Amino acid sequence: MKITDTPTAPANPLLAPWTGPYGGVPPFDRIEVADLQPALEAGMTQQLAEIGRVANDPAAPTFENTIAAMERTGRMLDRVNAVYGIYSSTLSDAAVQAVEREMAPKLAAFSDRITQNPKLFERIEKVYETRATAGLTPEQQRLTWVYYTNFVRAGARLDAAGKKRTAEINQELAKLFTTFGQNVLQAENEGAIYLDQESELAGLPQGVRDGMAQDAAGRNQNGKWAIVNTRSSIEPCLTYADNRALRERAWRMFVSRGDDGGATDNKGTITQILQLRAERAQLLGFATHAHWRLENTMANTPELAMELMEAVWTPAVARVREEVADMQQVADAEGAGIRIEPWDYRYYAEKVRKAKYDLDETEVRPYLQLENLREGMFYTAQELFGFHFKPVDATRVPVYHPDVRVWQVTDSKGGLVGLWYFDPYARKGKHSGAWMSEYRKQERLDGDVKTIVSNNSNFVKGKPGEPVLISWEDATTLFHEFGHALHGLSSNVNYPSLAGTAVPQDYVEFPSQLLEHWLTTPEILNRYALHYQTGKPVPRELVAKIEAADKFNQGFKTVEYLASALVDMKLHLAGARKIEPDRFERETLAALGMPPEIVMRHRTPQFNHVFSSDGYSAGYYSYLWSDAITADAWEAFIEAGGPWDQDVARRLRDNVFAVGNTIDPAIAYRQFRGRDPGITALMRKRGLPVPPRK
Ligand SMILES: [Zn+2]
Repeated sequence: MKITDTPTAPANPLLAPWTGPYGGVPPFDRIEVADLQPALEAGMTQQLAEIGRVANDPAAPTFENTIAAMERTGRMLDRVNAVYGIYSSTLSDAAVQAVEREMAPKLAAFSDRITQNPKLFERIEKVYETRATAGLTPEQQRLTWVYYTNFVRAGARLDAAGKKRTAEINQELAKLFTTFGQNVLQAENEGAIYLDQESELAGLPQGVRDGMAQDAAGRNQNGKWAIVNTRSSIEPCLTYADNRALRERAWRMFVSRGDDGGATDNKGTITQILQLRAERAQLLGFATHAHWRLENTMANTPELAMELMEAVWTPAVARVREEVADMQQVADAEGAGIRIEPWDYRYYAEKVRKAKYDLDETEVRPYLQLENLREGMFYTAQELFGFHFKPVDATRVPVYHPDVRVWQVTDSKGGLVGLWYFDPYARKGKHSGAWMSEYRKQERLDGDVKTIVSNNSNFVKGKPGEPVLISWEDATTLFHEFGHALHGLSSNVNYPSLAGTAVPQDYVEFPSQLLEHWLTTPEILNRYALHYQTGKPVPRELVAKIEAADKFNQGFKTVEYLASALVDMKLHLAGARKIEPDRFERETLAALGMPPEIVMRHRTPQFNHVFSSDGYSAGYYSYLWSDAITADAWEAFIEAGGPWDQDVARRLRDNVFAVGNTIDPAIAYRQFRGRDPGITALMRKRGLPVPPRK
């Protein structure tokens, strides 16, 4: 007989503090999906116990034993959540989705148990009331204000019945958000158009065709070409495919995500979400969900956000009419015999761009190699922030997918700043679009903790061994997301809740949108936009054309975006009445005078920003709000002598990138710029008429 030791159950690797270099890194090499749910449960249990000790502390409440003590709770859950977020957004299979359905309402209930703890709130309120006279630093006062405001906004002041109903609503919403997001993901994963004749690909550049062949092979359709139902696959088709019927088919598939009347239709879910949000806002003492959402933003009220959107809407629609007229002329000259429809816009816009600016996207692409542009981003970070990036040996830091790579970031004195993970390619189970996330926040509460951030995108990988060439728009997005990463990396605060990108929603896109501008500088283009075959930098004439064409198609871009932002805001200003989303969308757009040649960038049934979490609900306007600030800040560089001005860069670092949420953003911006931002720089940036001074 063989005698073995009694096997002990292997410990869940998600529960332990992260070990290894750089103050510890996520143990991706040891994680199983089955570990996620028990780890989340254990993390919640532990944090509730920790919070119980804070709430029941017999000592009189102070900043240290209440607010700072709260900052020390939930460390285990933070680590688990970082990994859970990565699985949900980049490795989402049936098993992960089952965990999400199970855990979303539990996590919502957990969060309410904290904000509805009366003893805890009483202590927070006491610290809040004496914050100005208790000898606290400005950062500590700000943190106290953040805690107090968040608790009140979550219903800490409600009576027992109100608290109970709020908690029920939050759990119900969490389930509906999960359903909504999973329905969109399913439509994107499953929808595809397969082509078996190369002749059907007429007009599409070779790089796009290669990507389509890969996509088809990945779906067991070898020898065919696939148009997948994601933005990164649909947009090249709409831009280049000569076959108009194919463009229309692809367009219809894409805009119908979540709106097909079948099992994954999102319309009923939307109606429920809107009703619950309206009810919650009223419980919390706000006129509408939009009023509740904007209370702690820079805009502060829906009226101010609407004012900015409406100021831009009318001139943008007027610009669309000019763009359509230009396109119709091209179509007529070709003898196409058509009227411009939504599936024609990108295609003919591309032709007008060629004719007007002699600029051909396919001419630019060979100069836009993903890896070179990444080096260009590093150069930008070095010149503006003094950051140095060095690849980390894959054996030292585990990753969750072989495509993911890691860099260490150091400052000009060689001190460690943090880690940057890069997950560039599209794959099944990864959400579409591009984003940044923070696996660990910078802080100095109990020692110097370095941040870990990541950038994620959905570039089509193309043929093995060949450089990945990307579009100008994708290159801009790459710099955008890197701006978020630099915001996280630059963080220089004491308390984790105030670190990095934890700023109001309508301010958080400012650092990222600002960074997009450096892509267009000669320093980056001449050094990093190198032809993938000849190694030659992008020719001066081509750069001049790119610059000239920069304001091209801004009518389309602005209206496509603003239509979504306006519908979002109006849905959440509508109050408690029952809303049929398709009808509401149709009527709202008609009342706005939506040009028939354009569809919303995100139609209501697929509007993940707004309906897969509270995230950007009544908040999609934030991109425009932030862009007004961005345009104004960029002019600070131009006025000072250029994009690389060291003095402006230092002020930007000190007042914007480094401060996180330790200071009111309006004040921080004023310290950077010497005044408040206005709207005129935004109109100049988009080539729209600048309004007269009021
Ligand atoms: Zn962004």
